[in-house]
Amino acid sequence: MEKNPLEKYQEKRDFSKTPEPSKNKESQGKNSFVIQKHDASTLHYDFRLEINNILKSWAIPKGPSLNPKDKRLAIPTEDHPLNYIDFEGVIPEDRYGGGKVIVWDKGTYENTTKDENDKCIPIDKALKNGHITFWLNGKKLKGEYALIRTNIDKNKKWILVKMKDEKADRKSNVLVDKPSSVLSGRKIEELS
Ligand code: MN
Repeated sequence: MEKNPLEKYQEKRDFSKTPEPSKNKESQGKNSFVIQKHDASTLHYDFRLEINNILKSWAIPKGPSLNPKDKRLAIPTEDHPLNYIDFEGVIPEDRYGGGKVIVWDKGTYENTTKDENDKCIPIDKALKNGHITFWLNGKKLKGEYALIRTNIDKNKKWILVKMKDEKADRKSNVLVDKPSSVLSGRKIEELS
């Protein structure tokens, strides 16, 4: 029998107590991504990439940056269902991940990972290799990023970094300048 890719996700949650989606939906045939701002026990940003009909996920304590000088720690978390792309709301405080969630940015991406001969590496293979590059077409984040696995803490730590391209921005702080949800226009403090 095929292993349920959402087993970990479902085990952690009681869907009679949380408004989060319980099951996966069909892919729209796009390579989607989402970044959720999540005010749990500590504020962080959850970065999720659609790969093989599931959302591969990383928690980024300091959030993404448009500045290529910033190396942002990214900690892998359990795979999420594709419907999670549009999840915004309040998870009860006594539940796993309890706290407010807004869709801080979403859009599509293009895999730009190449080998030394400039040949494209499929994204699932690149992920296993621990080194992926991709071009984001979001509302706030645009341009190429790299997500790289480090050997710190038994490979549990990855780094997200903006590549140098015309979308890089070394001056502004996108987290401060554009705090609101791209779905509802609300700030995270405005959820109740
Ligand atoms: Mn989270």
